[in-house]
Amino acid sequence: MSVNLLIRQATLVTVNARDEVVENGDLAIAAGRIVGVGTAPAGFAADRVLDGRGRIVLPGLINTHTHLSMTLMRNYADDLAFWPWLLERIKPLEDHLVADDVRIGARLGLAELIRGGTTCFHDMYFHLEHVADEVARTGLRARLCGALFDNSGQGAALLRAAVDLHDAWHGKADGRVTVGLAPHSAYLCSPPYLREILQEAERRGCGLHVHLAETEREIADSLERHGVTPAQQLAELGCFRVPTVAAHGIYLSEADQRLLRDGGVSVAHNPGSNLKLANGIAPVQQLLDNGVNVSLGTDGAASNNNLNMFEEMHLAALLQKWLRRDAEALPAREVLRMATIRGAQALKLEAEIGSLEVGKQADVIVLDAAQPHLAPRHDPVALLVYSAQAADVATVIVAGRILMEDRVLQTIDEASLLAQATAQTRSLLDRAAR
Ligand SMILES: [Zn+2]
Repeated sequence: MSVNLLIRQATLVTVNARDEVVENGDLAIAAGRIVGVGTAPAGFAADRVLDGRGRIVLPGLINTHTHLSMTLMRNYADDLAFWPWLLERIKPLEDHLVADDVRIGARLGLAELIRGGTTCFHDMYFHLEHVADEVARTGLRARLCGALFDNSGQGAALLRAAVDLHDAWHGKADGRVTVGLAPHSAYLCSPPYLREILQEAERRGCGLHVHLAETEREIADSLERHGVTPAQQLAELGCFRVPTVAAHGIYLSEADQRLLRDGGVSVAHNPGSNLKLANGIAPVQQLLDNGVNVSLGTDGAASNNNLNMFEEMHLAALLQKWLRRDAEALPAREVLRMATIRGAQALKLEAEIGSLEVGKQADVIVLDAAQPHLAPRHDPVALLVYSAQAADVATVIVAGRILMEDRVLQTIDEASLLAQATAQTRSLLDRAAR
């Protein structure tokens, strides 16, 4: 399956420590890893050569917060405030989810991720063994985290399922699938339940994936109920002893931000979802200035309503400039890092993915840059953040395997997929209406 690949004469945006861009360079891949950046090593024999002329090659994008299977709920509940959206529309539908909804929803999401140049995603959901199965088959890389909450009497069963997922899937699919635990939030998990989750995470050496400081009401409720902010509460419970990715992080005080920095917590910024639900704008530049790692995510397709990391990059840059009243805030170079190497750091995978460097996994995307909206070529990094579209991604490679070539998916039958997704969505709506 893994062949020696050579991409010839491309623009290589490496996102290495010096943000190097190599013009007219070759990228060599062997045994699933990058073996040459700029030039192929001596004696390298390619089984396949891809023409890189007019193309930009960069590390695969890393979506650090999503609920992949929610693609079936895309455009199901829109133009609603966060709480009625979640509690009156999404949750009632999720109560009727069966394994096939999760599987087909994930398959649809995987096709969208590949098409948009995302090679690794960080998920929080239910029945994830079916998502793991789809990931293994279709070739992406994923960190899957079973969603946990104990506000409705399901706490023990959900934790059992999440732990079983870890024991069955962590490190599987040639290491492409890894597993963490996802306490939904401090507001849907009681302190004793959070302690129990932490214990399981520490026992297994896995990380946490949690929603944090997404709405103003979440902060006000936490102060009223517990006398501390959600970030303080998680810190005091010891949650940050394990690697933690906190999604959203919109309402974080300076003291909260210090707790995140000291705990090595990464914030997954989801600008599209945050704007659509009118939740707010995360203080990304301030977090970075305070030494907090910030990565990028789409959140689920029910609140975005797509899984397009190019759109998130664009929004992230523009929002910080306005939030700070400073056009120099969050430059393109930093945004691209959030979508790649900082995402890898959030998942503690920076030794393996997130940049084009010799020795790393060959998770690589190739952009077709010979198009009117991408010409002329002054600065390839600005091009990626401000001008490029997800549909410009032509070829996607994960661990040296080509998952899409010249816009044709190689591991998913797209025609039958769309029919399956439509039928499965109808079945879910029928079950919910009964
Ligand atoms: Zn979310």
